[in-house]
Amino acid sequence: MPPPSLELSAQPWCVVAKCGAQARCTLLPSCDPTDRRFSVLLVSARPAPGTARTAPPAPLLRTLRATRRATLAPSSSRGTRSWKRKGNVLSASPLTPTLCTLSSSSQAVGPKDVKLSVAFCGVCHSDLHTVKSEWGPANYPCVPGHEIVGTVTEVGAEVTKFKVGDKAGVGCMVGSCKTHKPAPACGQCKGGCEQSCSNGGSVFTYNAKLSDTVVTYGGYSSDIVCTEEFVLRMPENLPLDAAAPLLCAGITTYSPLVQHGLNAPGKKVGVVGLGGLGCMAVKIASAFGAEVTVISTSPNKEATARELGAKKFLLSTDAEAMKAAVGSLDGILDTVSATHDIDSLLGLIGVRGTLVLLGVPPNLAFSPFSLIFGEKKIAGSLIGGVQITQEMLDFCGKHNIVSEIEKIDIKYINDAYARLLKNDVRGRFVIDMATLSA
Ligand SMILES: [Zn+2]
Ligand SMILES: [Zn+2]
Repeated sequence: MPPPSLELSAQPWCVVAKCGAQARCTLLPSCDPTDRRFSVLLVSARPAPGTARTAPPAPLLRTLRATRRATLAPSSSRGTRSWKRKGNVLSASPLTPTLCTLSSSSQAVGPKDVKLSVAFCGVCHSDLHTVKSEWGPANYPCVPGHEIVGTVTEVGAEVTKFKVGDKAGVGCMVGSCKTHKPAPACGQCKGGCEQSCSNGGSVFTYNAKLSDTVVTYGGYSSDIVCTEEFVLRMPENLPLDAAAPLLCAGITTYSPLVQHGLNAPGKKVGVVGLGGLGCMAVKIASAFGAEVTVISTSPNKEATARELGAKKFLLSTDAEAMKAAVGSLDGILDTVSATHDIDSLLGLIGVRGTLVLLGVPPNLAFSPFSLIFGEKKIAGSLIGGVQITQEMLDFCGKHNIVSEIEKIDIKYINDAYARLLKNDVRGRFVIDMATLSA
């Protein structure tokens, strides 16, 4: 079944009654703006031509009603966030281009939990894929966001790593078997690879199911509660807004450089694509002392690539330049999510080098000979465990590495998604969460 289309709306933002009572939801008749616990209001959709905007399609109503029931479900145990949230921004349905705001009473903080007031949240391409159900059906309504930074506002009685006032972050995971299953932890979690937990899988920060009734909500939110084992210390010297993307884009590029031995002076590292991931890859690989070559189809990326630290720029449409660069790289981080020529990238890699896939193209085609001759490898990489994520943050603190960002108001989120689809952003959009209640 093709993924449902998400028409992105440029309509004005509607504000939940709790946050300003500027409008009453026209899409959800059951919404009660006076209900201060969990009012739901939708950002209005641009109606399809010839369609009156009256009520949402039935599936949307069902989704939201189900959610309102689920909101009343008790908190999950083991320090994971409950449904009781305040000020969440939700993508309501794959069928309509909507965002909505859900507010409710505050979240319970368990003995091992840390509560953060979210200051900023990065906008990752994963958010858009999830919202559109492109990576499987989303659990609507869905609160995206897994580049979450803020200040600790509350800690549970057994918390030892954090105190109120600390700068902290939550990345792509909020738990795994080691926090959400009876002991003992699986081998992957014991070995610091919680992202590959083999006992039930890691619990991703949003759109993950903890049980039949409990779904995780991400960082497009005023606050978040997470078990301390999955909360990261943010380096004091880095600005929180520009450091937020380190929690996904940073670790996604740092980890494969380490895993594939590309984190050493003199290593020749190619980076394909210069979006959120690509920009981070150039900065981090350069900080390791590697010689970075950015490979791109657009010549106007060269200036940015060099600004970020790349020593070389390779225009992939320049056949002569590509030929001259054959076999010149130790490895490539490929961040492109569109279909592209894998054989020519493999050609740039030397003997036993590795092409690491970080993007998610709809399909992947290459000749086996491109691997066989030169004994090359194609590998995948998925974020990183808690320990290496903290190591990455400390490394970025030491080398003063942050993301290129464009800070946005939450009301701009639909436009940001639309621009993300066109790769019209340098680095990352980062939402200033103060705008949620503004
Ligand atoms: Zn991400
Ligand atoms: Zn595990």
